Amino acid sequence: MSEQNVIGKGTWIDKLAFELIEREKSIGRKMDLLRVESGLGASGVPHIGSLGDAVRAFGVKLALENFGYKSELIAYSDDLDGLRKVPEGFPDSLNEHIGKRVSTIPDPFDCHDSYGMHMSSLLLEGLDDLGIEYEFRRAKDTYEKGILTDQIHTILENSSKIGEKIAELSGQEKFQKVLPYFPVCENCDKLYTTESYEYIPNEKKVKYRCKDATIGSNVVKGCGHEGMSDITKGHGKLAWKVEFAARWQAFDIRFEAYGKDIMDSVKINDWVSDEILNYPHPHHVKYEMFLDKGGKKISKSLGNVVTSQKWLKYGTPKSILLLLYKRITGARELGFEDIPSLMEEYNELENIYFGKIKFDNKAKETKSKGLYEYVNLLNPPKNPSIHVSYRLLIELTNIFKDDRNERVTKKMIDYGAIKEEAPEIKELITLAGNYADDFGEVEKIELQIDEVTKKALGELSQVLKADNEPDDLQNAIYQIAKSNEIPPKDFFKTLYQIILGSNRGPKIGPFILDIGRKKVANTLSSYVN
Ligand SMILES: [Zn+2]
Ligand SMILES: [Zn+2]
Repeated sequence: MSEQNVIGKGTWIDKLAFELIEREKSIGRKMDLLRVESGLGASGVPHIGSLGDAVRAFGVKLALENFGYKSELIAYSDDLDGLRKVPEGFPDSLNEHIGKRVSTIPDPFDCHDSYGMHMSSLLLEGLDDLGIEYEFRRAKDTYEKGILTDQIHTILENSSKIGEKIAELSGQEKFQKVLPYFPVCENCDKLYTTESYEYIPNEKKVKYRCKDATIGSNVVKGCGHEGMSDITKGHGKLAWKVEFAARWQAFDIRFEAYGKDIMDSVKINDWVSDEILNYPHPHHVKYEMFLDKGGKKISKSLGNVVTSQKWLKYGTPKSILLLLYKRITGARELGFEDIPSLMEEYNELENIYFGKIKFDNKAKETKSKGLYEYVNLLNPPKNPSIHVSYRLLIELTNIFKDDRNERVTKKMIDYGAIKEEAPEIKELITLAGNYADDFGEVEKIELQIDEVTKKALGELSQVLKADNEPDDLQNAIYQIAKSNEIPPKDFFKTLYQIILGSNRGPKIGPFILDIGRKKVANTLSSYVN
């Protein structure tokens, strides 16, 4: 790829924004404001993947602005959603609210006006921490203000056509019998237990009955009530199979991404948008899914949900942005153990951006620089920050538990890693220290080690295990490399990779003594066998 073929900053985000613009031009819609949307869950604890939708949509907004268009991110919380199950770690008392709208359930922690707002706020705080700007909209207000009334009316008038299409596209036959609209039962206040079976267009009302329903793994009792619900009053909501379409048109949304899990819903909504509402559906992209590393001890000991709040105890906001902007497709396991490499990778990108690392592959260089700019929300700093290896800090904070900041700083100065103390360094020591305290070690990295090096590592391991400390460990390591005909600098590099997961590090002899000879010996042995 030559320089002039680069789209925007050369990342997937630019490519996506470019496609969006081209599509809008071909449709011939007004382009004075290109709105992008991201849904925020209001029912479960938001993990970093749910944050990802909004962060990436914001990236697309930035790319559109970079191309000279005005854009805005709508962050939409579906707080009319009914509670399906009580999240892990939440009080059992919530069980009585299963099937009710999350915006009417009291906040079990008493800090927000409802359970739904509590959950949305966790997400919004996460976005604020990352510097993501958005317009917040909630389902509750959207329906109560009647913003979707026209769309609900049109959808219900065409419900039999839609029901057939849903069956055709997804195999779900339910909406051939019932309307894709859930009134809130005026008797028991539940949603999803109601079944609406007739629409009266001139009154804008649906007839419904309230009956037992299966929600997730729970059977929720209906109350048997039969009633009429006015669609203009916000006492109900559209089924997800048609609701996005209604919102896209009402809010004039031009881009929304989706995860694989809701692919069927998106297909149907696109059709409803195009054919029923006569609003060309927004441009889409399918995002990668983040999976919790379920079986791994790190996630388990802290509960399974990797939230941004927990992440920021160990990593910088930029490490989250890097995680989310790096790539877009596939499925990825995600856990706190990914933090050290992301912290290192950010430093690497910064070095590329400021020209300290050069590539032969210009396209790759452009893309890396572009990624760095997005991680800085297209407002990169004028100068690079002070770089220290996060893995080195984890090792050091593991050694020094008391007076940590002073002692780690002093060691870093001794090692020549930094010149003097600085607030950024202190902050990094705190983060790495939290990581060291909660997880101990950095995960071992995969290395290909040849037989000669294995032999040398074995010899070094014996030296380190000896009762007496060698007089000059630095020299001993040097001699082991020499006698095995390994260039010392290659041997040192292997040691840094094993101990720090990095190609560089402080002077190796004293560093090994700081970490502890026997501990390092054990680590080396695990690579030899
Ligand atoms: Zn709260
Ligand atoms: Zn009821």
